[in-house]
Amino acid sequence: MIRRTKIICTIGPATRDPETFRRLVDAGMDAVRVNFSHSSHEDARRAIELAREVAQDVGRPIAVLADLQGPKIRVGELPKPVAIEKGTEYAFEALHDADAGTTDGAIPITYPDLASALEPGDRLMFDDGRIAFGVEKVEGSRVTARARTHGVLLSRKGLNLPGKALQVPSLTKKDRDDLAFALEHGVDYIALSFVRRAADLAELRDLVDDSTLIIAKIEKEQAVRNLVEIVSLADGVMVARGDLGVELDFEEVPIVQKRVLRLSQESVSIGITATQMLESMTSSSRPTRAEVSDVANAILDGTDAVMLSGETAVGEYPVEAVEAMDRVARRIEGEAGFLEDPSDMGPPLVRTGVHRTVPGAIAGAAVEATQRLGAPFLITLTTGGYTARLVAAQRPSVPILAVTDNPRTYRQLALAWGVVPILHDEPIGYESMLARARTYAFEHGLAEPGRECVVTAGMPFHEPGTTNYMRVEKL
Ligand code: PEP
Repeated sequence: MIRRTKIICTIGPATRDPETFRRLVDAGMDAVRVNFSHSSHEDARRAIELAREVAQDVGRPIAVLADLQGPKIRVGELPKPVAIEKGTEYAFEALHDADAGTTDGAIPITYPDLASALEPGDRLMFDDGRIAFGVEKVEGSRVTARARTHGVLLSRKGLNLPGKALQVPSLTKKDRDDLAFALEHGVDYIALSFVRRAADLAELRDLVDDSTLIIAKIEKEQAVRNLVEIVSLADGVMVARGDLGVELDFEEVPIVQKRVLRLSQESVSIGITATQMLESMTSSSRPTRAEVSDVANAILDGTDAVMLSGETAVGEYPVEAVEAMDRVARRIEGEAGFLEDPSDMGPPLVRTGVHRTVPGAIAGAAVEATQRLGAPFLITLTTGGYTARLVAAQRPSVPILAVTDNPRTYRQLALAWGVVPILHDEPIGYESMLARARTYAFEHGLAEPGRECVVTAGMPFHEPGTTNYMRVEKL
């Protein structure tokens, strides 16, 4: 059985050696995430090289997703860790470039507009919300806040200001350097952190070519408010539940997850569910029942991919975590009726109107014809990948064999739900690409000669976004 849901692994110290990396691939990893919040360019180069080498070796693509840190606010450099006592008042002061490190005894914060953003009653949430303060006073550039928890505050820990619209550029100087590095190394996806509105994505879009796919990380309340316009501009969206669960009350996260995943499917955008999916496997060889249910529910919500973060970056059981995700996905996908919308999400591609376009109509008809004919799979011939993603967004009950002549599309489709990417390394053409799909299917035991199968394509082949062709072929 071909697994439809894709698995993304964050690569880190636990998985950067060739042997462990190869074991991740064998266990079912489809894409690597290079997290520039924690990776040097040398670390990133190593992960990208490994992905390319091992993919070549195993004969299937591994996509590379470069995750830009974005405008994350942090604690500045502290002379030593600060022990935080619940109920005690602490002073915070913004660091400006000119006076870096001189906050006169106050805890330094890397956000120049800290004081003007805050008023009494606001919250400061450090270290993923583990250490919380309530603002008591704002005087000039100094913020005084009372600790609501105990804890130890370390240099560089992240700070969230829930509900605040921050005056920060969407791409920092570090992001621009990391982006240049990522593009130079031909990564397949760029993820942008702390997206607030579509304009943030437009800024990134101006810096990358059209064939680089952009993932918007949904982790701010503002992004949730602007979700429709963000999803319509992004090629994919990530439910970044780590920061999202601090920026919003945590009970909001499941609702946002369902909204984002439904909207991404309707908009032919790749939906990714991220963070703490198998958190306990960072130090345990088995997932908790709640984690198994979480992965299963994301799949039932229609996610294209599930993502591992610390579990594979620094965890003790990275391979077991991928195996666990693979097992859960196969079990859920094998359940009769799993594709019949168990969460009552309604038909996909309705609100955005994609279904009324020629590509949407062709993709819908192809899936319908496939079902009526009982065909074992569906074939799409694609250069930029849109036809395959559009067919995938209909969530057909059979695999989608996507033949492409473009190595980048081949890698990018590794992340698309239900898609089996097949690289065609001969000149593009209907008959030769169909022959490639046929050979692949026979070699992998997916069908016997003589079976009928629906083929979709966009013609002419090199015009992106033109899904306009459908034909029933005999294999
Ligand atoms: C998240 O916040 O859930 C996330 C995926 O982003 P990061 O790991 O970069 O904090």
